[in-house]
Amino acid sequence: MNAPDRRGTHEGVSRVDLVYNAKWRRTLVATVPLGALAFLLAWFLERWSGEATTFDLITYPVFGVCLIVLEVFLLLSRRSLRPLVITTVGAVGAYFISKLYWILFVLPPDVDPRGQMTENFFWVPVIYLLSFVLPDSRLGRQLSLAYTGVVLVISLAYCVKSAILGQNWTVVYALVQMNLANSVLFALTSSFILFKEEYTRSQTRLAVVEKYANTDHLTGLPNRLGLKLDLERRLAGGDGRFAVLFIDFDGFKVVNDSLGHAGGDKLLEQVASRLKSVTRGDDFIARFSGDEFVIVVDSLATTNSATSVANRAMAALAQPFDIQGNYITLSASIGISFYPNDSIDAETLIRYADSAMYRVKRSGKNGIQHYMGEPEEALERQRLLERDLRAAIEERSLTIDYQPLHDLSTGEILGFEALVRWKHPKWGQVEPTEFIEIAEQSGLIVALGSWVLNEACRRAAAWQRSGAEPLRVSVNVSPLQFTHPGFFDTVLAALQANLLPPECLELELTESIVMKEVESVSATLARLQRHGIRIAIDDFGTGYSSLAYLRDLPINTVKIDRTFINDLVSPIRGPRFAHALVEAIIRLAAHLELDVVAEGIEEKAQADLLKELGCGLAQGFHYSQPMEPRELEAFMQAREANSPGERGSRPPLGPS
Ligand code: C2E
Ligand code: CA
Ligand code: CA
Repeated sequence: MNAPDRRGTHEGVSRVDLVYNAKWRRTLVATVPLGALAFLLAWFLERWSGEATTFDLITYPVFGVCLIVLEVFLLLSRRSLRPLVITTVGAVGAYFISKLYWILFVLPPDVDPRGQMTENFFWVPVIYLLSFVLPDSRLGRQLSLAYTGVVLVISLAYCVKSAILGQNWTVVYALVQMNLANSVLFALTSSFILFKEEYTRSQTRLAVVEKYANTDHLTGLPNRLGLKLDLERRLAGGDGRFAVLFIDFDGFKVVNDSLGHAGGDKLLEQVASRLKSVTRGDDFIARFSGDEFVIVVDSLATTNSATSVANRAMAALAQPFDIQGNYITLSASIGISFYPNDSIDAETLIRYADSAMYRVKRSGKNGIQHYMGEPEEALERQRLLERDLRAAIEERSLTIDYQPLHDLSTGEILGFEALVRWKHPKWGQVEPTEFIEIAEQSGLIVALGSWVLNEACRRAAAWQRSGAEPLRVSVNVSPLQFTHPGFFDTVLAALQANLLPPECLELELTESIVMKEVESVSATLARLQRHGIRIAIDDFGTGYSSLAYLRDLPINTVKIDRTFINDLVSPIRGPRFAHALVEAIIRLAAHLELDVVAEGIEEKAQADLLKELGCGLAQGFHYSQPMEPRELEAFMQAREANSPGERGSRPPLGPS
């Protein structure tokens, strides 16, 4: 906002004044000559008719000439109207007052005053109306009040005089009429001025409030609401094409956490001014929320110009920021949507740009993507799942089911695989494959994984304390979790905290982890194994890894993937390949003294075949489903009750 100048007005207001002046000047230029004409005409007619009074003979020409001078002034000078109007109102008012006084008190008693009070007094409303012209409305009201008051006083004085002298009641009647008319004119004038003033004031206040509500106070940029208004304005104008760039910084939270809030704010301010520098002309930039900004790139000749603004924004952010002596560079993920190609609706354009941004995030951040019309619901679901998964992990509202691993030949239960479960408040059970993928892409897997690890160890230890013989618990480990620097310590901490013997924990890793960096991975695996922790290769056979890995890696168990177990009895795919592969794995594993688990056994035929091939362990619906802890405890107890002693001396699981 501009600083007030010496007259206490703001630049914006005085500009309004100028416009106001100019408009009124035009009106006055058109009307003042009519006033002059009236006076001169009256002068001429009175002289001609010979009825002229001395007052009129002097004042008419003087006023006529004064008004002509005023007209010249109005035409020639661009100065403020204020002094001219004050003088005019004052002069006209003084004229009527002195004329009234003259008629009532000076005129010889033989002249009828009513004859004198006619034509001239038609012009009285001009005094009231002129007070509107004054930009200073208080003065306008005061002048018209003064006029009304003085006329009233003179009239009262005349009435008193008439009452005493018993003169001319018809004049008193005319005066009453005139004062009533004056009062009405005054009331209307001053109310009009007052209301106009109030209205202007409230409009100004509204404008200020609106601006306040549309602005982000940290960066001074328009906020989300401001953005919406800008887009709506563009859409209403229907003028040309534009693009919406949705910008989200990568890892801003980390920067914010390490700099503190004040530092984060400083950074955002600088970011805002850098982003401003890449926009031009009618481009628009807003802070959408936290670390999200939106740029509206105006009238694009080609889609390339949106991309080039995005590139410039990325380049601007990549230059180091100096925040309290810390040099920070930022990268951003930018999504772009186009009007009218992608949508003709403001909110949808923003949402599309946002989901394109989200795609950048998912594919490794630091990049630019255009909205591609992806099935929006799927993307929206992923996005909401990510948000809710974060909350679910924090609130510990995930659960774990346990699926038993059986000895293939005896059916005895040797361990359980921990399988995480998430019941979403809106969508119900979400498949682990779906939310694990989201967790991996968003980095949430580290927190999720260590919770599962700890919880599974806690449960296994509790079952053992309740008297069950050592049972193994298998926990799935994602690649990202495994390569996270704190992984090894997390595993040891989970074991120690829950007093679970390390040999009771088996970590299930997929081939993909192992294939990445064989050396460092096998070093970590060896380290885990030295601590007594068991390692299983999960989904074996799907990752196109060579069987030689089984020889080279420090592992304890191979889990043959479900698809091969399925194919063993599938008439469609033909069992021959699966049969050969499964057999080879089992033989090799036997040779290397590894345990072999066949996953996903659903039918007796599969179980029989695998038994024949010499597979040791089995997991699958044919034996048992994944179960909640309580259900599993009941399951174990029921098995024990049905065939006591058959499975050795293993007591049933007690509640944990
Ligand atoms: P997985 O490690 O291969 O786990 C076995 C999956 O096969 C489980 O699916 C289990 O319910 C299912 N299954 C067991 N027996 C049968 C059967 O006879 N037939 C069929 N068709 N399926 C059977 P679930 O629980 O849906 O888990 C899917 C995947 O999600 C898991 O595959 C694993 O990769 C991942 N996952 C589950 N929990 C976790 C976890 O805590 N951490 C990580 N990183 N991944 C997990
Ligand atoms: Ca598994
Ligand atoms: Ca598996």
